[in-house]
Amino acid sequence: MVSRVIPVDPFDLVIFGATGDLATRKILPGLYRRDWAGQIPEQAQIIGAARSPLDDASWRDMVRAAIEENVTPDKRDPAAIARFLDRLGYVPIDARGTGGWEDLAARLVPGRVHAHYFSVGPGLFGDLAQRLHAHGMNDATCRIVVEKPFGHDRASAQALNATLAAHFDEHQIYRIDHYLGKETVQNLMAIRFGNMLFEPLWNAQYVDHIQITVAETVGVAGRGGYYDKSGAMRDMVQNHMMQLLCLIAMEPPYAFEPDAVRDEKLKVIRALDPVRPGDIVRGQYDAANGHASYLEDVESANSLTESFIALKAHVSSWRWKGTPFYLRTGKRLRTRTSEIAITFKDPPHSIFGEQEGQRSNMLVIRLQPNEGIKLKVTIKEPGPGGMRLVEVPLDMSFAEALGPEAEDIPDAYERLIMDVIRGNQTLFMRGDEVEAAWAWTDPVIAAWEARGDRPHPYDPGSSGPEDALMLMHRDGRRWREVKP
Ligand code: NAP
Repeated sequence: MVSRVIPVDPFDLVIFGATGDLATRKILPGLYRRDWAGQIPEQAQIIGAARSPLDDASWRDMVRAAIEENVTPDKRDPAAIARFLDRLGYVPIDARGTGGWEDLAARLVPGRVHAHYFSVGPGLFGDLAQRLHAHGMNDATCRIVVEKPFGHDRASAQALNATLAAHFDEHQIYRIDHYLGKETVQNLMAIRFGNMLFEPLWNAQYVDHIQITVAETVGVAGRGGYYDKSGAMRDMVQNHMMQLLCLIAMEPPYAFEPDAVRDEKLKVIRALDPVRPGDIVRGQYDAANGHASYLEDVESANSLTESFIALKAHVSSWRWKGTPFYLRTGKRLRTRTSEIAITFKDPPHSIFGEQEGQRSNMLVIRLQPNEGIKLKVTIKEPGPGGMRLVEVPLDMSFAEALGPEAEDIPDAYERLIMDVIRGNQTLFMRGDEVEAAWAWTDPVIAAWEARGDRPHPYDPGSSGPEDALMLMHRDGRRWREVKP
């Protein structure tokens, strides 16, 4: 199977924050890979902007180094790198200043798609929108790409939406949640809505429960300042994990189109019951094995911010009433794994009697590492000697099913940037979705802040605090072991 590269029309992409971590580690290497794959037309240009006093040549040197560091050797072709660097230009701009804007406007080619990627701190999103408008760059061909975090709570998200709306129409605003750009996440929709097999079973009658896990091995060292003001609920649950929950729980949209999909996701967020205090466990990693504790990493002895969260959510809808969604995410856990596991109910009666090998069917959607999908089914153990049952996975790993072409699957940022250029907002969050998600998390956060709750300590390299295990044990269920 040959992966198809669909070329796009010539465009101008401006990256604000062009010297930062996200731009040099993800966005620019990703754009290079799209160019290497032949997707970027010859005339397209990429313009970097930040306060650093660079020129075209010195920014190209920086980007060359970023490619060397972040692109695998098999795709580092000198001719392709030279072609890519040729597209790059740099304009020194302070998002809050007056200089550089006319120069930037003059570099944009009229009539093309102009995409402005806000890869700067969230405090500058409004300034950039305002100045692009003030300098006449918010015309019909203009799009803005807004990074996370989108607000700190509902009120700040509403304020930011209002600021952006003062300068751009909603169809010009692309709020990034890079989890939506992952291949398996989109495959979740293909599996649900492209097959007859799953959808009839996709409801509370047949699904026992759903687990969503985003486990990281790293701590917060290096970005403790940001993280300590945020915590796992704001940093992971309110955006990435709720988006995954929505894609599992939503009704079939009438088409795979931006507003059709986003309308259905919004309905799910609105159908979420408030989380009961007993259904949430917060944790903070301790020191061990030479690793600093969370409190040492954020250099604050009294921080009450959580580096781990586990919670049980209920979607009060006809489809899901009675089927819990268990979410957990944390830092310094045993393995780095992101996955969704859908556990189906047991058959109503086992004709084989009590059998150890018989397990509930489970659909496991692995986001990272090793993106892929497994369906666990029960079969007969091969060989003579009666009917013994065993669980086996039907493995839909992309690498095996699609062969070497699977290695060229674009990463989330590559795909999402190309969607911006094509003008496809399906995998981006709409303003009302973000506000509704905050409306669900705000009261939970306010409640523990009012009580001054201290998160439960947990050992680095573990699966989180004991109480998180109890959250499922008391329902007669278990977390899936997170495996590398
Ligand atoms: P960063 O490494 O601190 O980079 C910030 C960039 O913004 C730099 O290029 C900086 O360059 C520029 N900048 C700062 N102040 C500016 C100003 N007043 N005017 C113009 N440019 C200015 O931050 P980052 O990690 O790349 O993150 C960028 C955004 O992406 C943030 O909103 C972050 O939350 C989000 N994000 C990042 C990641 C990640 O993995 N890094 C992941 C998810 C989301 P100068 O100092 O030269 O101006």
